Amino acid sequence: MQNKTIAELSQSLQQGEFSSEELTRAYLDRIDKLDAQVNSYITVTADGALAAARAADEQRQAGQAGPLTGIPLAQKDIFCTEGVKTSCGSKMLDNFISPYDATVISKFKQAGAVMLGKTNMDEFAMGSSNETSFYGAVKNPWDLDAVPGGSSGGSAAVVAARLAPAATGTDTGGSIRQPAALCGITGLKPTYGRVSRYGMIAFASSLDQAGPMARTAEDCALMMNVMAGFDEKDSTSVDQAVPDYTTSLNDSIAGLKIGLPKEYFSEGLDNDVATAIEVAIAEYKKLGAEVVEISLPNTGLSVPAYYVVAPAECSSNLSRFDGVRFGHRCENPKDLTDLYKRSRGEGFGAEVKRRIMIGTYALSAGYYDAYYLKAQKVRQLISQDFKRAFEQVDVIIGPATPTVAFNLGEKTDDPVTMYLSDAYTIATNLAGLPGMSVPAGFVGKRPVGLQIIGNYFDEARLLNVAHQYQQTTDWHAQAPEAFK
Ligand code: GLN
Repeated sequence: MQNKTIAELSQSLQQGEFSSEELTRAYLDRIDKLDAQVNSYITVTADGALAAARAADEQRQAGQAGPLTGIPLAQKDIFCTEGVKTSCGSKMLDNFISPYDATVISKFKQAGAVMLGKTNMDEFAMGSSNETSFYGAVKNPWDLDAVPGGSSGGSAAVVAARLAPAATGTDTGGSIRQPAALCGITGLKPTYGRVSRYGMIAFASSLDQAGPMARTAEDCALMMNVMAGFDEKDSTSVDQAVPDYTTSLNDSIAGLKIGLPKEYFSEGLDNDVATAIEVAIAEYKKLGAEVVEISLPNTGLSVPAYYVVAPAECSSNLSRFDGVRFGHRCENPKDLTDLYKRSRGEGFGAEVKRRIMIGTYALSAGYYDAYYLKAQKVRQLISQDFKRAFEQVDVIIGPATPTVAFNLGEKTDDPVTMYLSDAYTIATNLAGLPGMSVPAGFVGKRPVGLQIIGNYFDEARLLNVAHQYQQTTDWHAQAPEAFK
């Protein structure tokens, strides 16, 4: 049961092979038995899940089932969920029970999906290894000595370990694609504005975007059919019709023009990862795609620009956690300043503090022009690189990450090295473009991710390009030995 995709589970439920209640119980049992090894859930909502599963079974009996009715899913703990703890991986929100649902959550509820629980994540989505979580590091199901990637590392791990058929993630600089790559699953970061950010705890508002993390592109398409769309509660959500993402999955990709950015294949890329990506490109040629080399000349500026923009926005977004309105409050404050200082000092972890300090500095009078404004200009240059590229090609393909998963603890003392693990994903967030990571092999036990980047609102094409590859390869179907 646990090896079935959403598409397969949906069929089994429809044919009455098992009920959603049975399916949900099977997942809850697996979580009970196996999650201690990976630490991928912060909260398991067993009672709510069983109630939702029974409701879904009734809906099906009434002939009202859709593709996601009764399908268990895990939600990243960055999405507000009514009546359920929403911690964002932080001590600051360890006591926060959300009074409302994020739009993504309410859409899944309306579609009849069953929430199994909330997944572990880097604190406030800041990290690339899931080691900054207040709830402890998540381990990579393929190799328990390795990180799962971050910040949606819990979501990637639950999918890889078969502790949920699929999960949601968010991606500000790579947090869906990088953990998807490191855990050998399929993840999609949509175009900025495609999925509502309402009720998704903000890290860097001009970059944050939610998306699906599943085993296949087909499952990502099924989830996007639910997640995407205009939301009047999010002023940055775009009012544009949502296609049925499943209808073009089987289109031929003969004649597709693929661009390979030479900057993604240069210094810093691990040789074994490069070899796996070359094999994937050869597969695309067999499928009839044309491959050309392109250049994204400002790629090297994306990590530095991001580490001005993202901390600047986070310093503003996280100012609301002051120990007064909600969140952690220190014991016995002497006065108001002491209350602010100690509540924030105790509630936030080291990485979050580092970002708040960098961002506050970059936004301060006298430095704003030199840093924030400059970074915004670099962001424009990066967007123009992509604009020029998409005049020539349909999609851009390359590695999702420079290396496979690194060891737990390996980079925790060196933030800059950690930041570089997003070297190939961050530029698309700065430009607002959609990107995917698709399983494309292994180096030893550790998975390799192939990245596919598309033009604005071209998610259907990305899913098609990924799905075609998954019809002729089986990397996405493999399961880690300990979780088969
Ligand atoms: N790893 C990047 C960071 O630490 C991106 C995180 C994200 O996409 N949420 O900021």
